[in-house]
Amino acid sequence: MPDPAFASLRTRLRELVDLEAALAILDWDQAVCMPAAGGDARGRQMETIVRLAHERHVAPAFERALGAAERASESLDPADRDAVLVRVVRRDLERARRVPVAFHVARAAHVSAAFEAWRRARPRDDFASVADHLERSVELAHRYAGYFPGAEHVADPLIDEEDEGATVALLRPLFDALGEGLRPLVAAAVATPAPAPLPAGPYPAAAQLEAALELAVRIGYDVARGRQDVAPHPFATRIAGGDVRITTRVNERDLTEALYSTLHEAGHALYEQGVDAVWEGTPVARGVSAGVHESQSRLWENQVGRSRAFWTFALPHLRARFPALEHVDVDAAYRAVNRVVPSLIRTDADELTYTLHVLLRFDLELDLLEGRLAVRDLPDAWSARYARDLGVTPERHGDGVLQDVHWFAGMVGGAFQGYALGNVLSAQFYAAAVRAVGDVDAAIARGSFGELHGWLRDHVYRHGRAKPVDVLVRDATGGPIDPEPYLTYLRSKYGALYPALAHA
Ligand code: ZN
Repeated sequence: MPDPAFASLRTRLRELVDLEAALAILDWDQAVCMPAAGGDARGRQMETIVRLAHERHVAPAFERALGAAERASESLDPADRDAVLVRVVRRDLERARRVPVAFHVARAAHVSAAFEAWRRARPRDDFASVADHLERSVELAHRYAGYFPGAEHVADPLIDEEDEGATVALLRPLFDALGEGLRPLVAAAVATPAPAPLPAGPYPAAAQLEAALELAVRIGYDVARGRQDVAPHPFATRIAGGDVRITTRVNERDLTEALYSTLHEAGHALYEQGVDAVWEGTPVARGVSAGVHESQSRLWENQVGRSRAFWTFALPHLRARFPALEHVDVDAAYRAVNRVVPSLIRTDADELTYTLHVLLRFDLELDLLEGRLAVRDLPDAWSARYARDLGVTPERHGDGVLQDVHWFAGMVGGAFQGYALGNVLSAQFYAAAVRAVGDVDAAIARGSFGELHGWLRDHVYRHGRAKPVDVLVRDATGGPIDPEPYLTYLRSKYGALYPALAHA
């Protein structure tokens, strides 16, 4: 007979989860179909829900319900579902209580002003007009860190918010090793002429959306519990276990935009759809961290979607739909989607160079937070890193330091490490899946994705937030987070595509 304390806690959690779902649907609506004039009202509506959720979360009644459930869980096995739930809920509550409401209000006001300034400054390359906002983003990060007095580094509380358990002390050596491994590979690849891209269409938008969704369904995306829409900045969102949506960007001259944005977001969606239904209505029912989430989007986009095996399966389907591909064979398609061309823009980057874009942002963030870099010197520091790591230099701030919204949509710190961790983990999970289920590539070439999806569901997705990241990674892959499998994967794949890499 389960203790009634757990039922009472679950009732309160359900309310918080429902408020979060309302927020997610308002956010989705704003990105997909809201008229622009609805922006002010939408901002206010979302603020109201955030405030209501926060008040309910930190209310004495919630603490009492949690306290009773904690006492009831003392006699349980630590792996028991209720014991796991209570631990996650306690951790979230402690975090929510440390940060006063006044800070959230100040942060929200800063974000709306900074975002608006950034939106105007980016097309005009006007860094000077956002410099003060950026100073404030740094200052708020310091204030935020002040609420977590045990933190070793000012960025740690912000990193922990996205990637629970990660710290600068853990990430810095890992990312240094990753950068050192990547830079010679990139240098060797860009010294070689890039293969031809896919033909420039035409690829009618409607047919692309249909084809991309078909492939998403083929890899395991359940459309009975999801839907696909168009949005300029693609994302995936969980409203509930039965409602996990993806958005896609389409370019009629470039087939890869819709295809890869869909596979990427479908990867996020497979994770959310795969969480065990027993966690529904609790904060355990979602992906455990930014890094693990990104490992799934990148795994399906790159390890799977940019593999020769995938193109062996997918090309005949795509050719039947798009006459522009008539003379493209599997080898040419495989080379085309793995072109290495250093770019100034992170979101346009190929698989090999992408991580370098992320690592330099991570380093610059830390430099700003540690006071080693002044905001006014950021554009020069940015250009110097691009020149060193990628051999390209932005001619305008819009293609440089102003390209990402992250530093203007919150604070400085914690926004970028998840992308690099995601790439590292994607290779570890993929290698572990291959060890467990055998020749995944052969299955993919036949259009059979269930072996890989099933392994990921059992070892990653179904756990939601029930296992801390380090435990999840160790249980699934047999070891800690390690950049070597990712570097090995890149060396082997790109070494075959770009012979100069073999000597890098
Ligand atoms: Zn993503």
